[in-house]
Amino acid sequence: MQKEAGGELYSSTPHSLRIVVDAVAGPHQEDYRTRHSYNPNLKSTDNARLEMYARGRHAIGLWHTHPERSPRPSGQDKKTTEEYLRAFGNDRDRYLSIIIGNRGDLLEIAVWSAEKNGDWLSWNEFHGQVQDQIP
Ligand SMILES: [Zn+2]
Repeated sequence: MQKEAGGELYSSTPHSLRIVVDAVAGPHQEDYRTRHSYNPNLKSTDNARLEMYARGRHAIGLWHTHPERSPRPSGQDKKTTEEYLRAFGNDRDRYLSIIIGNRGDLLEIAVWSAEKNGDWLSWNEFHGQVQDQIP
């Protein structure tokens, strides 16, 4: 039986305009995982975070899987992500929620973020050249 999984996303430049996710953690062996739910083990999550911090990596979001083709954050997902964002106080403007849909043959990756002003953004894949604006 396939079980849902998840963990945290890390970056060495959490305050940059262009966030690069350069490390991920999870799932951990002690997590509670079923076909339709995923509950991280808090102690394992804390340990991973300390380990990442010692390597200059800062938590910037969460990832988890959904058994659906076009994943959207559930009410509980939104609540959890907003709680993480709040826990950072003024140190984060947003917290990412990356959801990997594992229903179809191809994995579908959806990137969402909880914004400090209370909004939720959906991030789209960008095809093409990044161009700086000329004034
Ligand atoms: Zn979810």
